[in-house]
Amino acid sequence: MSTTRSSAKRYAMTVDTRQCVGCKACVLACKAENAVPDGFCRDWISQRLEGTMPDLRLTITSERCNHCDRPPCVSCCPTGASHVHEFGKVVLVDHEKCIGCKACLASCPYGARFIHPDGYADKCTFCIHRVEKGELPACVAVCPTHAMHFGDLDDPGSELNRLLASRRHFALKPDAGTRPRIFYLE
Ligand code: SF4
Ligand code: SF4
Ligand code: SF4
Repeated sequence: MSTTRSSAKRYAMTVDTRQCVGCKACVLACKAENAVPDGFCRDWISQRLEGTMPDLRLTITSERCNHCDRPPCVSCCPTGASHVHEFGKVVLVDHEKCIGCKACLASCPYGARFIHPDGYADKCTFCIHRVEKGELPACVAVCPTHAMHFGDLDDPGSELNRLLASRRHFALKPDAGTRPRIFYLE
């Protein structure tokens, strides 16, 4: 993965539902890396059971903010605290500008945000502080099955795009119109 500082990138993530075993190492790594307070998480594991007996299928997904291309959390924010950062088009919250009004929590179809005990809206940052240094997000780096890939959606040669071109995939709540940038490989 190339993470050279550039405003041209549009970071995204793939999560391989065949490889994710739901161990929650990503959740714990995120909490440790980002000092996420007790009782809150920036990422979480969901399970979906589909089909009827005996053809049941369990899909496990590691979920977090989708860093949407059309983020309602940004357009609804009255102070400009929620914004699309020039670095990789990552959706972030400026803690100093946030007044904790919760408009963004209400607008997010994914329940990706919470109010930090210090009073501001918080969520996944795509570990921008690590990516800016050329490191992978903590959840991606720690995954024991290498289920997640992080990269530039606008780079046709990225591993991320190779996976998207070669594997069936889905995004969460595509009908919400948010254009999420986390893709689940089937
Ligand atoms: Fe905003 Fe929610 Fe999309 Fe994240 S997932 S960018 S918090 S609307
Ligand atoms: Fe903006 Fe903060 Fe209100 Fe969210 S809680 S809409 S980031 S001011
Ligand atoms: Fe947490 Fe970073 Fe992974 Fe986002 S990218 S879920 S902030 S570890």
